Amino acid sequence: MTSKPFNPFEMAQTQFDSIAEKLALDEGTRQLLRYPLREYSFAIPVRMDDGKIQVFRGFRVQHNDARGPAKGGIRFHPLETLDTVRALSMWMTWKCAIADIPLGGAKGGVVCDPHNLSQREQEKICRGWVRQLARNVGPAVDIPAPDVMTSAQHMLWILDEFESIHGERLPGTITGKPVGMGGSLGRTEATGFGVVFTLREALKQLNIRAKDTTASIQGFGNVAQYAARLFQQIGGTVTCVSSWDQQDKTSYAFRKRDGVDIDQLLSVTDRFGGIDKGKARELGYEVLPGDEWISQPVDILIPAAIENQITADNVGRISRQVKVVAEGANGPTTPEADAVLWESKVFQIPDFLANAGGVVCSYFEQVQSNMNYYWTKDDVLGRLDVKMTSAFAAVSELATKRKISMRDAAYMIAVDRVAKACRDRGWV
Ligand code: NAD
Repeated sequence: MTSKPFNPFEMAQTQFDSIAEKLALDEGTRQLLRYPLREYSFAIPVRMDDGKIQVFRGFRVQHNDARGPAKGGIRFHPLETLDTVRALSMWMTWKCAIADIPLGGAKGGVVCDPHNLSQREQEKICRGWVRQLARNVGPAVDIPAPDVMTSAQHMLWILDEFESIHGERLPGTITGKPVGMGGSLGRTEATGFGVVFTLREALKQLNIRAKDTTASIQGFGNVAQYAARLFQQIGGTVTCVSSWDQQDKTSYAFRKRDGVDIDQLLSVTDRFGGIDKGKARELGYEVLPGDEWISQPVDILIPAAIENQITADNVGRISRQVKVVAEGANGPTTPEADAVLWESKVFQIPDFLANAGGVVCSYFEQVQSNMNYYWTKDDVLGRLDVKMTSAFAAVSELATKRKISMRDAAYMIAVDRVAKACRDRGWV
């Protein structure tokens, strides 16, 4: 018997169907939101460095823009498929809606492997991608951003081509630009800080003082580092972090019972968030097998590495002391483990709420770019706090009122907001 290959778009549709049922959405709205509004699939011919032409496949999918211009990253990946892009565009619609920013959801991609492409070839792909979409993206239409294997440099090439075609400077076309070239201060901190803004609100609701709590974090990359830093600033103690060891092809957990010193640990961490285990040991850290992060006797767990980490197999190893799981990573908890945590009354802050700080700050970047006036870092992070705190409040209020999980409440609010925008516009 052959098993059906995993299809992320079918999964996104199944999730949507279950929320549509809970919201008792009418059939027309369901039909509209189950599929993207628009899809672009096109060829990007590139003259390679060896003089030959190679044709790359490019995509842009705009799932829904009823609440505002569409927004979402561009991925460069050899296994990119239209269905992956469709699923990711739908998730972006829900994420922008839960953060209550006036943007819709989109995603894009190119089937290519940047490891095997020169800088010049990548530049040609970026310029070719936006030439095909010159009338279908833009500050008031659809705003791309970096994602898997694309960077600020790719965004600048795309912007430059777009501006050349339109004959004007339009920095609000794209986000993820370098600071000084239209990027926003605070973007680096945004996702990790956003996780802790929601965590702080959860602790308040549970009547727990942050300074009495300890946390264990999976990962030590962008999200984990800034989450750890702000958590310590509000008085908490991080006793364990973990990271992937490129050489040993496995992960390790790094424990210091009286508290991890973030700056000290950063001095032995590479730019990919990999901690040097020999040097960490010299600094007094216990080096444990990677999966030990989950079984630490702490009050808070923050998965902030990759998807699929809290599963039916290891959820039983979570200490009874754990009161909150704040999902920094995308999709770290499987549905089976989710059910166990709900039964055990562990308070969960679902991924697309907890890690929405990144997209909120991208929205701030676009606002600043459109004004051509840039805010201070404190200004950006203050506004981020306001957005994350009010998003958390809306979700926890519904979860409490309906006695449902924070994840279901977040999905219900997000889908309801988008459905309402479609109705208000007279689409359905
Ligand atoms: P990153 O690449 O900067 O860091 C990833 C960290 O995870 C590294 O420390 C790496 O060593 C570690 N890691 C990888 N595999 C591991 C494993 N099996 N066990 C333990 N540690 C492991 O990535 P990031 O930007 O911090 O993103 C982390 C997660 O957050 C991802 O799921 C990402 O999709 C999600 N996210 C990130 C942002 C953002 O703005 N950076 C926004 C939303 C969601």
